[in-house]
Amino acid sequence: MKHRVVVIGAGFAGLQVVLGLKGAGCEITLIDRRNHHLFQPLLYQVATTLLATSDIAWPIRALLRERRDVTTLLGTVEGIDRDTRQVVLRGGGRIPYDTLVVSTGARHAYFGKDAWEADAPGLKTLEDATTIRRRLLLAFERAELAEDPAERQALLTFAVIGAGPTGVELVGIIAELAHRILPAEFRRADTRKARILLVEAGPRILPAFSADLSAYAAAALARRGVEVRTGAPMTECSAQGIVVGGELIPARTVIWAAGVQASRAQEWLGAKGDRAGRVMVAPDLTLPGDPAVFVLGDTAHVVSDGKPVPGVAPAAKQQGAHAARTIRARLAGRPGPGGFRYRDMGNLATIGRNAAVIEYGRFRLKGGLAWWVWGVAHIYFLIGARSRLFVALSWLWVFLSGQNSARLITQRELPKDR
Ligand SMILES: Cc1cc2nc3c(=O)[nH]c(=O)nc-3n(C[C@H](O)[C@H](O)[C@H](O)COP(=O)(O)OP(=O)(O)OC[C@H]3O[C@@H](n4cnc5c(N)ncnc54)[C@H](O)[C@@H]3O)c2cc1C
Repeated sequence: MKHRVVVIGAGFAGLQVVLGLKGAGCEITLIDRRNHHLFQPLLYQVATTLLATSDIAWPIRALLRERRDVTTLLGTVEGIDRDTRQVVLRGGGRIPYDTLVVSTGARHAYFGKDAWEADAPGLKTLEDATTIRRRLLLAFERAELAEDPAERQALLTFAVIGAGPTGVELVGIIAELAHRILPAEFRRADTRKARILLVEAGPRILPAFSADLSAYAAAALARRGVEVRTGAPMTECSAQGIVVGGELIPARTVIWAAGVQASRAQEWLGAKGDRAGRVMVAPDLTLPGDPAVFVLGDTAHVVSDGKPVPGVAPAAKQQGAHAARTIRARLAGRPGPGGFRYRDMGNLATIGRNAAVIEYGRFRLKGGLAWWVWGVAHIYFLIGARSRLFVALSWLWVFLSGQNSARLITQRELPKDR
């Protein structure tokens, strides 16, 4: 019987494992609760009407159609039985493994205030993005209908909580939408009066970047009419608005970009985790004491060169490639590559049209050139010619016409399936 590798999660890490095992002679089962692989770095552009869902996600089954050694299963994992070496699916199905790869990513963390999720959705899945897009567009529509000026202003107040790259990218586009694109289309509501707030508990925005790039980003946002509030956390959130630094700010649209927590893998494995619930792994990315189990990407606490590896896409892909090399070596009876070493690919964030920041070691770039580099890098990392072409054309269209094209309100809000 062939060696059975089961991979849970077809995100950046899981997919890379499957790609790295091409021709290895094993039987691979890839399980994901969604039918698509998602390019999360551009999710905010779906949420803010720049891109369509199919531009940044691909059916997993179609990506692996040539791989006769891979079986793709649409299923939600609810447990792992390490004694019998089986993965337990919702509904009771069990999938046996010889080697298991757990790469189920991360989810939002509301720091114990889970009730905020209803009023401040986070951005992690395509459903999250279309929910946020729907709320954004409906807020403008309702402002156009509103008779009461205070209600209209509350509808035109948008708050994003958390000023990492996602928060900064969201407010940058919302400001462009409200202040530049929509004013010509609304008659009763003056969307130029929209308030866009970026709330950050820490002392500065983009804390992972150097202080000068963070200051540049804050100034660029201010020029776009974004109010940046640092140094005070949001302490309350309801359908009426938010409280920041003791002040109640009526805001009908709030987006959470403040924290993540690892998937439930730690519980499934009964393993030791860090404060964010990430599984502590051995240097070769396996579970200490159980070399048959690899834990990768956002769901793992990985240390490289004495430092924790950040939860970013390149880190997840590199870990996926490393795990695949280790599995291949084991199957061939060769010594494995040993401990994982992370190659830092730098930090990138856009602030809006013609403004971005890039940091790679000591190299720093900001402004229009950084924006173009950011764009080219993201197009390069998309999968397939169709997506690259469509995204490049969408961006070119927005750049030349000043119009965002994915502005349809098409669905009711759906109950969460987490
Ligand atoms: C909005 C946003 C913007 C980001 N921007 C950037 C950026 O600009 N640059 C960057 O480098 N990184 C960025 N990241 C981080 C990056 O996307 C993650 O670090 C990366 O996706 C981690 O890869 P992963 O394989 O660990 O998890 P993921 O890519 O999240 O994949 C996890 C997979 O597991 C599946 N899954 C989860 N639970 C289950 C279950 N119970 N059963 C079955 N399947 C399950 C999910 O459906 C998913 O397909 C961003 C993340 C977000 C959310």
